[in-house]
Amino acid sequence: MEAPQQAHIAMLLTPGMGHLIPLTELARKLVHLHSFSVTFIILDDGVSSTKTQLQTLLQTLPNPTNSILLPPPPDIAGDITAESRVVLSTIRSGPSLRKALTDLKESIPTRRISAFVADLFGIFTLDVAKELDIPAYLFFTSTAMTLSFSLHLPELHESSTCDQYRDLPEPLKLPGLVPVRGSDFMDPTQDRKTDAYKGCVEMCRKYRLADGILVNSFFDLEPDTFNALDQNNRMPPIYPIGPLIRPGSKNIKDGLKCLEWLDKQPLCSVLYVSFGSEGTLSRDQLNELVSGLRMSEQRFLLVAKTPRDCRTRSSHHDDEYDQCAELTEWTTNNNNNKEKGFVLPSKWAPQVEILAHVAVGGFLTHCGWNSTLESIVNGVPLIAWPLYAEQKMNAVLLSEGLKVAIRVTEGENGIVGREQISRLARDLIEGEEGEVLRKRMWNLKEGATRALSQDGSSTQTLANVAKKWMEHP
Ligand code: UDP
Repeated sequence: MEAPQQAHIAMLLTPGMGHLIPLTELARKLVHLHSFSVTFIILDDGVSSTKTQLQTLLQTLPNPTNSILLPPPPDIAGDITAESRVVLSTIRSGPSLRKALTDLKESIPTRRISAFVADLFGIFTLDVAKELDIPAYLFFTSTAMTLSFSLHLPELHESSTCDQYRDLPEPLKLPGLVPVRGSDFMDPTQDRKTDAYKGCVEMCRKYRLADGILVNSFFDLEPDTFNALDQNNRMPPIYPIGPLIRPGSKNIKDGLKCLEWLDKQPLCSVLYVSFGSEGTLSRDQLNELVSGLRMSEQRFLLVAKTPRDCRTRSSHHDDEYDQCAELTEWTTNNNNNKEKGFVLPSKWAPQVEILAHVAVGGFLTHCGWNSTLESIVNGVPLIAWPLYAEQKMNAVLLSEGLKVAIRVTEGENGIVGREQISRLARDLIEGEEGEVLRKRMWNLKEGATRALSQDGSSTQTLANVAKKWMEHP
């Protein structure tokens, strides 16, 4: 008897760990739970620093997953933001993507691709898939809140007369969302005069044309937002399928020392401090942070990247950064003197394993959505210190909506002072406020576990999407 032919999914991977991790996890589920085969089409923007981590991620994926590397597109000017570079690369990669999808169709036994899935930066590639009669989906790797904001942005753009959204007299109130002040809107929308803003509005218009949008969140985390999106018949179908995070590993080599240090600390006593894969502070801010952590007399594990004003090379070439001499000396002294803190002068920490460690009692985070989900599934409460992208909106959700985070406030000089850092660290790890936030986080953790259980909302939602894809003629 002939073996049943596997349905096939094509996924576009764009640079940036925040997108790569959830997309590869989605692929893992589609292969393991729904018997799809998956081909990754990998966009090379010519400069990104995530290549090594991408290789590691791809090596851990199950069969049958294949990958195709698109050639880097020509003619991208040097001086633009990393996000704009990725979006421009996706637009200019249209012809090579069309060829890759056409060749892929020809090469698979069914001659049929059941769905094409792109992350939010790949939105302009959905047109290419549609031309080839492939259902085109977006995987939104952030909150339903940011998705809803993005879907409403074109209307806000038309109706709003202010020069800058930060001048809006009132916080924006969208159906099902915590009110958001203009100054907390996601980064590219901050300056309405820029090309990045215009591009962002254009991208958000395109979101509505997707055949469906998968979201790395779960219904019980943002029920009002999902309900409001569901009731709006001008929106594409929205599918909450999260939290999809990288599973922990027992074979950690990089950063093993910090896990060994954690093994020696009491339960829930350590504040983990990290600003994600790209977040960096200035030298002054890093000094202030370290002083504040020491003043707090709490245990801490700090992932310290070279301060951005100590770097000597372009931010796109991470491997080539010179280490900041102060940071190296200070790390060695700190760790040798067995202070209460452990400093990991690292480009890459074993974050999933750290957050799952029983000694970790709090997380000072830049509010990247993957980091946040990793904290939620481990029930770790937060200090929210948003830096870029949509992180300020995430901080609003976490501190004002879900109330599982205390948010830092910058002084007029743009620096978060040591006294504040010290107080927040103490409040979170040993204060009453920390206890309340921890209990709320544990409830969210239970919600996440329920959503991913066999009958859970996210598992069922993904099963429904998979069925739809299987049935695509
Ligand atoms: N990450 C990690 N080690 C690091 C920095 C980041 O494992 O030193 C992982 C982290 O666990 C998360 C992802 O990289 O899964 C970062 O994604 P997030 O959305 O939090 O922030 P981004 O880096 O995209 O701003």
